Amino acid sequence: MRRTKIVATIGPASSSHEQVRALAEAGMDAVRLNVSHGSQEDHASRAGLSRAVQAELGRPLALIADLQGPKLRIGNLSAPRLLVAGETVIVAGEDVAREDDLPVAPSVIGDVLRPGHDVLIADGAIRLIVEDIEGRRARCRVIVGGEVKSQKGVNLPGVPIPIPSLTEKDLKDLEFALALGVDYVALSFVRAAEDVLQLREIIDRNGSGARVIAKIEKPEAVEVLDEVLRATDAVMVARGDLGVEMGAAAVPLLQKRIIARSLELGKPVITATQMLESMIEHSDPTRAEASDVANAILDGTSAVMLSAETAVGAYPIEAVKTMDSIARAVEPSMAYRPQNANAVGDDRAAIGVAMSNAACDVAETLGARAILVPTFSGRTASSVSRLRPRLPIIGLSHHQTSVQQMALEWGVLPLLFPEAENVEDLWDRAVEAARREGLIEAGDLVVLTAGTAVNMPGSTNVIKVEVA
Ligand code: ATP
Ligand code: MG
Ligand code: MG
Repeated sequence: MRRTKIVATIGPASSSHEQVRALAEAGMDAVRLNVSHGSQEDHASRAGLSRAVQAELGRPLALIADLQGPKLRIGNLSAPRLLVAGETVIVAGEDVAREDDLPVAPSVIGDVLRPGHDVLIADGAIRLIVEDIEGRRARCRVIVGGEVKSQKGVNLPGVPIPIPSLTEKDLKDLEFALALGVDYVALSFVRAAEDVLQLREIIDRNGSGARVIAKIEKPEAVEVLDEVLRATDAVMVARGDLGVEMGAAAVPLLQKRIIARSLELGKPVITATQMLESMIEHSDPTRAEASDVANAILDGTSAVMLSAETAVGAYPIEAVKTMDSIARAVEPSMAYRPQNANAVGDDRAAIGVAMSNAACDVAETLGARAILVPTFSGRTASSVSRLRPRLPIIGLSHHQTSVQQMALEWGVLPLLFPEAENVEDLWDRAVEAARREGLIEAGDLVVLTAGTAVNMPGSTNVIKVEVA
């Protein structure tokens, strides 16, 4: 069993039923729809395929909608535009751009740019410097050239962008994504904990159980990392824009810090961008890429992510297989991470954390076959997962959404099981469901942890050792 989860972005190169199924069979645990690109029809069809494939394979897949947030992008170009170092090009908001200008949306760019500012395009691959502002159009010198395509990201490091964290487009995309029944909503360019809370509030108001993923890619978010982590359900180390905004050299240590802090606070963390970038065009990864995936896993990431590799690359299935085999090669060297017994308070959440720690200790000491976690919301499975026990965590819920959400949690095998009448019934059904799936066998020693008050989220208070 592989413990680290794999997120794959679905795009034009991976949108058929056969391809989504092949990705899942190769090891994809979560489907990411980047609503910055493509049409709603395309994304609705991909969401439908994800649900169809999980039913066919009998294995839950988490569905993630990734919102663009306050990101500037190149507008629609009739053809890609080649920029050559040394030449000048005019960058302008979409509403004022002329024939040969590079249009950027939203149109605030003309209001914030000043001579000397850097304009970075396509995760920083192309670099311009502003020489002059004419009206709301910026005349720029090309420092590093390249081919500019429609919808590529534009970053202005260090320049505050006066756009709300949830733009008009995000609100529309969010409504659409929640109607699709996504399990997670990722928000790009989070700048403060309030951004996350605002998204949370809209999700709650919609009656959706979707969890929030805060994408850490702005210096503002790094500065208030703990506040953002406390406000969110999960995080993404969004290395593409993070590297553009803070410099590539800052990314490795930031990755380690964000992962370590997420683990301490019990939040699942995804490491993303350029993990197997060369596999967009080649069937094998570079050694540097293999090391990068391995190191993210050793840092303790819950999941590793593929972006363009699976969305537009030539080898999407091979990319997932490559991540799968790297994870399997690395994981046996990883240690159990028992948490020290620092008092964390005596509220319900703290009791759950203490019980999870103890359940892992008991299971590790006994060399049990698995830890069974019947859980209402999936939170208990999450708090067991953060300890990285070496034995499988079987997360059981009667909520389909919780089961799908657990697919993103490190080491958790999510399983749908029937709602129980009382606590004895809960134990029996959990063991029976795990046996039926072939995850445990008769005679196996298992450790269970759950609440005695059935159907009360956050009330984990019992550990049980049982022979299946
Ligand atoms: P983010 O900052 O949210 O990661 P991104 O623009 O980097 O946004 P990714 O999802 O990381 O987008 O994908 C990388 C590249 O793959 C994109 O820049 C785009 O060129 C391409 N791509 C991804 N998804 C799609 C899609 N659905 N349709 C077309 N192209 C896509
Ligand atoms: Mg980004
Ligand atoms: Mg990206």
